[in-house]
Amino acid sequence: MNARFTCPKCGAIVKEPEKTWQLTAPIPDRKGRITVTIMGIFVCPNCGHRWRGVVSKIKVGGEEVEVEGSARKFDVSPPPKREGKVIELSIEEILSEE
Ligand SMILES: [Zn+2]
Repeated sequence: MNARFTCPKCGAIVKEPEKTWQLTAPIPDRKGRITVTIMGIFVCPNCGHRWRGVVSKIKVGGEEVEVEGSARKFDVSPPPKREGKVIELSIEEILSEE
């Protein structure tokens, strides 16, 4: 399975959703895991048809994390801030001056 989706109207391949959001299940499954469903809005580049669909499902919690579909392209957690590196460098500069 890869990050490709097909237009239900004309069959054209849409590489990635225009917009994604997460739906978290309120009740954990029998293994104590919460299912996070990543939804997406797709826009067909061929005919302009718009539709909503499931991008992928992620099960979190419990003993294992299970990823269904192609969630790797759509990170659940935000990327780390680059400002942190700047702060680390400035601390090293202060220490080397002592
Ligand atoms: Zn289409």
